[in-house]
Amino acid sequence: MAYKLADEVYIVDHQDSPILYAPFDGVVARITPEMAREFEAARVDGTLPSRETIATLNSLGLVVPSDRPERALRGAWDESFKPVGVVYMVTAACNLRCTYCYADAGDYPVNLYNRQMALDAAKFVIDNAHEAGGDTAYLNFHGGGEPTLDLELIQTVVEWGRDYASTTYGDGIHVNASMVTNGLVSKSKAEWIASNIDSVQVSHDGPEPVHDLQRPTVRGGKSYSRVREVIQEFQSRVPDLMIKATISRATVARMPEIARYMCESFELDRFHFGPVLGTGRGRSVIFGEPDPIDFVRYYYQAQAIADEYGKTIVVSGALSTFPNVRRTFCGVTDPNFSLTSDGHISSCYEIMYDDDLRAPHAYYGRYDRESRSFVVDGNRIAKLRLHDVNAISKCKDCFAKWQCAGDCQARWYNSQTGDLETGADVRCEINRTLIRDRLLEIVSVS
Ligand code: SF4
Ligand code: SF4
Repeated sequence: MAYKLADEVYIVDHQDSPILYAPFDGVVARITPEMAREFEAARVDGTLPSRETIATLNSLGLVVPSDRPERALRGAWDESFKPVGVVYMVTAACNLRCTYCYADAGDYPVNLYNRQMALDAAKFVIDNAHEAGGDTAYLNFHGGGEPTLDLELIQTVVEWGRDYASTTYGDGIHVNASMVTNGLVSKSKAEWIASNIDSVQVSHDGPEPVHDLQRPTVRGGKSYSRVREVIQEFQSRVPDLMIKATISRATVARMPEIARYMCESFELDRFHFGPVLGTGRGRSVIFGEPDPIDFVRYYYQAQAIADEYGKTIVVSGALSTFPNVRRTFCGVTDPNFSLTSDGHISSCYEIMYDDDLRAPHAYYGRYDRESRSFVVDGNRIAKLRLHDVNAISKCKDCFAKWQCAGDCQARWYNSQTGDLETGADVRCEINRTLIRDRLLEIVSVS
């Protein structure tokens, strides 16, 4: 029988102790620099490694029969469209003017969300969930701007959807509602949300000086006190509550302080810290993307503080996936059924304006008012399903690819030109460093 080197094997550089990492075979091993060089040569141009290297690879189970099937995960060409969840991109309006907003919220004209379309979308996903034999349909309310500025839409859709599901399918379909909010909401709105929404993500950047520095109101006022109160109102009432703090260049060194503040202020087990995404106002010099080395360094300090409280700081999708493998970061390849206020269907929550040059990469259909149906391009859908980490050249030889899965696709394209970005960015550096550290921990190399 003929043999070959296993595919999906990576060499992770680390000083003079490289690591061999085969995520699909569950292998992490310390190797010599010479062995790493031989392995790379074998992979690039088929040069036969030395007997010693072959023996080591063999003992790790990485010399395999030449007819062993490819190990990469791939999507399949599939034009069907039966989503069981919808994402409403509720409004472009916002009552805050965050210094780093990726979506330039508040800078776009505001169109009132088409009510009939919203209800038709709810019916569509509830019927699909029933047809698929599932027990849950998902109604998600998302940005561009602040969804609670049109809470009346959210109330109408959630109440109508639950009523429709129970009248039509009895107890068969649960309608799960989720939303994001900046937390600057009135008492009566907060009360309705706490009583009716299953999952809420509130953006809150930390103690008062940090939060108010980055998240001023539309008139330049402070938002800290009300946001903190709202989170406390949601605690123990919203079944799945999450706080997300955005870390900019200006606040990266304060991550440990932010961690202590979160742990002492809120009765939650986990807090999400995410680096600014360098699009929209996130291109700011002061409040833009943090230095990746600083981010990782201060993350470890922040987690050490959270450990004192028995809590977790989540900073990277790649890290939370490890050691499991995946080919896509989010539902963008499903594709997501995200509906803009004027009826475009986008696979990405961030790409929602017609003048966004990334729109051709994400739009795949629209709502037809006459037939009250969702008209989609099956060819686009099938292409989106294949559009995962396998599709991007910069990820091809990256050792973090099967955990990172290319991360958020919105950053694959330049938001000003629509062109594919080819180089590693801040999030690549963060993901790779965190995964490398985890691998080093496994093989105990300091
Ligand atoms: S690609 Fe990024 S912005 Fe778009 S839906 Fe996925 S996570 Fe959200
Ligand atoms: S770290 Fe960067 S290059 Fe590596 S898989 Fe993620 S997005 Fe791709």
